[in-house]
Amino acid sequence: MTHLLEAKSLDAFYGDFQALFGVEFHVDQGESVALIGANGAGKTTFLKVLTGLLPVPGQSLSLEGVDLTALRIHQIAARGIAMSPEGRRLFPSLSVRENLQIGASVKRPGPWSLETVEKLFPILAEKANTPSTLLSGGQQQMVAIGRALMANPKLLLLDEVSLGLAPVIVRDIYETLPMIREQGTSVILVEQDIGQAVAVSDRLYCLQEGRISLEGKSSELGRDEISAAYFGRA
Ligand code: ATP
Repeated sequence: MTHLLEAKSLDAFYGDFQALFGVEFHVDQGESVALIGANGAGKTTFLKVLTGLLPVPGQSLSLEGVDLTALRIHQIAARGIAMSPEGRRLFPSLSVRENLQIGASVKRPGPWSLETVEKLFPILAEKANTPSTLLSGGQQQMVAIGRALMANPKLLLLDEVSLGLAPVIVRDIYETLPMIREQGTSVILVEQDIGQAVAVSDRLYCLQEGRISLEGKSSELGRDEISAAYFGRA
């Protein structure tokens, strides 16, 4: 079976420094897959590879069987990978709605539009004309996710959604994941909060020093197993 996204023996380098080693990773349609790992494990590097910011050797990464490694950033976006970045990176002087509309500059056909994004996060309709800088952290996170959805991605990358947000806000945001997936959009989420990552994913991968140290169904992984993969064995 062809996976939606597949990394095979994927290595990544910054000059002479190797940050990822033989990564095997896949996502199927509609799946929610978590990626965890300690600081410096390689999570951001992997997201950079997926979005085309960091080129990798040929044939090590494909989307629906198509090699992504020769494609440029905008070509990868056009094929259906969009990211809600860590720190949200909104345009502060633009309104909520303008920020969302920027996401539609890579417009693919699909279920997501201003209307459906504002239905997913109703507060964004209420605040449509508010400059994004005046929003709370949680609301800004919703704009960042909404902006990524506006491109109608097949695969949505969520980088550190919970960073700096109160648990109740994080819960509200992750409660929208099933609705996103019902539309056929797959999700990779990078999370610092391991409990959260387990709770909202079908499968989980752990990176340790650039290598996948654990892969499994989130509901079947034990806490000790995850800790060992995350921190490494003494
Ligand atoms: P964090 O949770 O701190 O963001 P991470 O898991 O995302 O960590 P990466 O940022 O992917 O980790 O870093 C993986 C390794 O690559 C680290 O050893 C880091 O020092 C190194 N690295 C990251 N960016 C660069 C770069 N631009 N040049 C050289 N080395 C880099």
